[in-house]
Amino acid sequence: MQFLNSFLFNHLRFQIAATVVLIVVEALYFMRPRIKILSTRIFNCVLVSAAVYLLFDYATVFSLVYFDSFPLWLVKLLHQGFILGFEGTFLFIYVFLDVTTHNQQRLSVFEKFFLLLITLFSLIAIFCFDIFYYISEDAVYSYGPMVNLVYVLITILTLSTIIKAIIASRNVETRRVSSYVLFAMGLWIIFGLTQLFLPQILFSSVSISTMLLLLVISLGNPSERMDKESGAFNHEALKLVIADKLNRAKPFFIVNLDMEDISKLRRQFGDQAVIMMLSEIRSFVEKQFCKNVYKINNHAFTVIFDEHDKEKMDYYLQVLEDRFHEKWNLNETTKIHLNAHIDFIRFPQDTPFLKKGMQNSSSQLLEFIEMCHTYSDDAEFIHRVDSKLLQKRDRQDLVYKLLQNAIRSDGVEMYYQPIYSIEEKRFTNCEALVRLKDTTTLGFVSPEEFIPVAERNFLIMPLSQCIFEKVFEFVSSYKLSELGLKHVEVNLSAIESVDLTFPSLMKGLLEKHKLEPSMVNLEITESIAVSSGRKLKRNMEDLINHGCSFSMDDFGTGYSNLSQITRADFSIIKIDKSLLWPIFEKKNPNRTNAKILLENMVSMILQMGLKIVVEGVETKEQFEYLEKLGVTYIQGYYFSKPINSQDYLRFLERYNR
Ligand code: C2E
Ligand code: CA
Ligand code: CA
Repeated sequence: MQFLNSFLFNHLRFQIAATVVLIVVEALYFMRPRIKILSTRIFNCVLVSAAVYLLFDYATVFSLVYFDSFPLWLVKLLHQGFILGFEGTFLFIYVFLDVTTHNQQRLSVFEKFFLLLITLFSLIAIFCFDIFYYISEDAVYSYGPMVNLVYVLITILTLSTIIKAIIASRNVETRRVSSYVLFAMGLWIIFGLTQLFLPQILFSSVSISTMLLLLVISLGNPSERMDKESGAFNHEALKLVIADKLNRAKPFFIVNLDMEDISKLRRQFGDQAVIMMLSEIRSFVEKQFCKNVYKINNHAFTVIFDEHDKEKMDYYLQVLEDRFHEKWNLNETTKIHLNAHIDFIRFPQDTPFLKKGMQNSSSQLLEFIEMCHTYSDDAEFIHRVDSKLLQKRDRQDLVYKLLQNAIRSDGVEMYYQPIYSIEEKRFTNCEALVRLKDTTTLGFVSPEEFIPVAERNFLIMPLSQCIFEKVFEFVSSYKLSELGLKHVEVNLSAIESVDLTFPSLMKGLLEKHKLEPSMVNLEITESIAVSSGRKLKRNMEDLINHGCSFSMDDFGTGYSNLSQITRADFSIIKIDKSLLWPIFEKKNPNRTNAKILLENMVSMILQMGLKIVVEGVETKEQFEYLEKLGVTYIQGYYFSKPINSQDYLRFLERYNR
């Protein structure tokens, strides 16, 4: 009895150590926020198998110590449970590695077959083969065909896992998980061999627990999948969940809550207030629907619903709509109505563009969720996907491809629209406007359509480079300054105007084409000027110091933040046609007011010492009226539409000589 008790202690201290490690691992794992994807479910299986293993390990130790008091069938049954847990743990580690490193994809047929065979043999070994026990003073051994076969199977599994991990570790994205798995397997081999040669040290349970600890660490810091500000899961997490859902190929629903005013509110009330409001919204959604909330971008939360939520979807959407009719807290004193809408997408009905089995379909779907609001012109709170929206999406896809080709193969052409100086009575300036050469498949594609597509798809900088190269090459090689051109105006998009590499790109190109910086005037729309902060200011200062000048484009549309024009960095204000045309609409009851507005605006801007271009001048009547008002420049169809470079040369030679 004495020896048995010391044996019991000898064995149990490893058990206890293993239990402590396992409890820590499981607590670590289950306390953290988790997303519901295939690899999470498999990982749960790993943990459950290991727990089963450990539980039965305790039981087998007792059964062996008190061997005489237990019926043999019970001892064997406990052993069978123990080995089942052991085998299961390795099996699930293998599957876990596979699923995690294959973007949540289900196992391949070959892999399924392989695991099925292993499982089958394991079950045969466990339930049909014999096991024997040998009790000595310092240890208890189990042996026999069952034990031997199980060890062979586990060795096969270990080796396969190692091979799989080595292959996966070549890929940067899957390197972390695979190296931890490799590490865990290495550890297991060391423990296993030690056990083989020193059978009295029974620490296979310690080795399993330590392996699990390594695996939990391999999952990374849970905060890597969280958005710190709102407490929601981040884009990365959403990408995994979407990949998982697509792989399952069962219907699901996406609710994307787009909060339109977020960046405006940040500027107005500060980050802290917006963060507080976002986490209030996040926790409302979480509580209402008991679902994880994902922050897909700076202004939208995404929630995913399953097939079984189908009946309740309309109700859920209504709950959200009702809540958004009420106010949200920005801080202790301020409550606001938030401008928001929902994009509601059903998979698969609303996503015919996702081809089955396509590798990048999850990124495509994510992109679609983010872009949905730009395709729809629905004023309702709930935007549902319809055929019109899908057609728009397809067209943007085509425009994107066209643009990509154009940039690659010199398919971009510049047109020029002359700008008339009233004082000098000739065309001293012009505006460069971009065109796509070949649009046979789509018909004419306006820059108003393809510039936003370029901006969204990271094509704007290459496109911009093309534009500037062409314009500078033209102006410099034809010596347009000798034909009376004082400057060419080039439009800047929102993204390039705040790109901090832009000034050096400009300077390099000016140098390359030996062009005076004063020959270049950059147009920035009023809305960009209002919404872009310090980066724009820095870029403008840099280029103004270099000798370029700036125009504020489309003045009078949208924002109309009058204080913007007092900024010293603009030398020209371009008044949009929407301020001019109403004055000449015969039936317009507000004509007089429109006149008062334009006339006062013009006088105010002139008094500030700025120059004015009025755009969209189409008739003699409009021209004469503006001439009398004293505006500086006129641009519009009255003189010329935008024309290609050769026509523009002829135009200058004819009218500026
Ligand atoms: P925008 O800068 O306001 O350009 C003026 C637009 O008004 C041009 O359209 C021009 O063809 C049109 N326009 C000029 N005079 C008249 C007129 O008398 N009547 C009427 N109805 N329209 C007139 P376009 O060329 O289609 O360009 C549209 C917009 O696309 C531009 O508006 C600008 O925002 C953008 N864009 C054009 N080229 C470029 C470019 O090279 N880079 C960037 N970033 N944006 C560009
Ligand atoms: Ca412009
Ligand atoms: Ca304009």
